[in-house]
Amino acid sequence: MQITADHVIKFIETITMRVKEQRDYLTQLDSAIGDADHGVNLDRGFTTVLTKLPSVADKDIGTILKTVGTTLVSTVGGASGPLYGTAFLRAGMASADRFELTVDDLAVVIEAALEGIQARGKSTRGEKTMIDAIGPAVDALKAARAAGDDLLTSLRKAVAACQAGMEATIPMLATKGRASYLGERSIGHQDPGATSAFLMAQALLEVLEASQ
Ligand code: ADP
Ligand code: MG
Repeated sequence: MQITADHVIKFIETITMRVKEQRDYLTQLDSAIGDADHGVNLDRGFTTVLTKLPSVADKDIGTILKTVGTTLVSTVGGASGPLYGTAFLRAGMASADRFELTVDDLAVVIEAALEGIQARGKSTRGEKTMIDAIGPAVDALKAARAAGDDLLTSLRKAVAACQAGMEATIPMLATKGRASYLGERSIGHQDPGATSAFLMAQALLEVLEASQ
């Protein structure tokens, strides 16, 4: 099994649905350690992305992902717009002109997205951000690939690692983003960005499992 451009369109549509469903939850997480807008920010961004999808429905994966990235950068306020925007742009650059991706390609594409976020956010692991969910997912994907696992098995392992990474943000002290202003009071709350990153990882798995 490979990831097709049609899967990528469904992936973006599924993220949009899940973000809308979880908007209040994401915003509630952000009200504990931020400014209570993370769910609203992403919902606004992906709702706009959805209107752009018909224009790229027959395009390569790189074009689809780059369109998502530029739309997020221009419509999502807050830190997460430029960060997720950069992630999708870099993922799109890593999949330029491609209509199918293998599990090896997927690892390269997600790692490019991770590096984009780290470069843009000047962030590293352990700072209580989305990086703490995405980083372990990339590691798990690479390990599964090295072990010869197929696409779905690899992705299931990556989503499990992403969830563990998200939950591991709870006891962390935030040192990046708005949550860092709270200092010690940021401890004991799950990071909203790590939570939305997990929703996105789950959305990809959901689409691929449904198309089996
Ligand atoms: P804002 O913090 O500007 O209100 P959002 O609420 O939409 O933006 O997004 C907050 C999320 O962005 C945080 O939960 C965190 O995961 C992520 N984040 C913030 N700053 C950084 C950074 N420098 N690097 C990586 N992720 C970051
Ligand atoms: Mg916020």
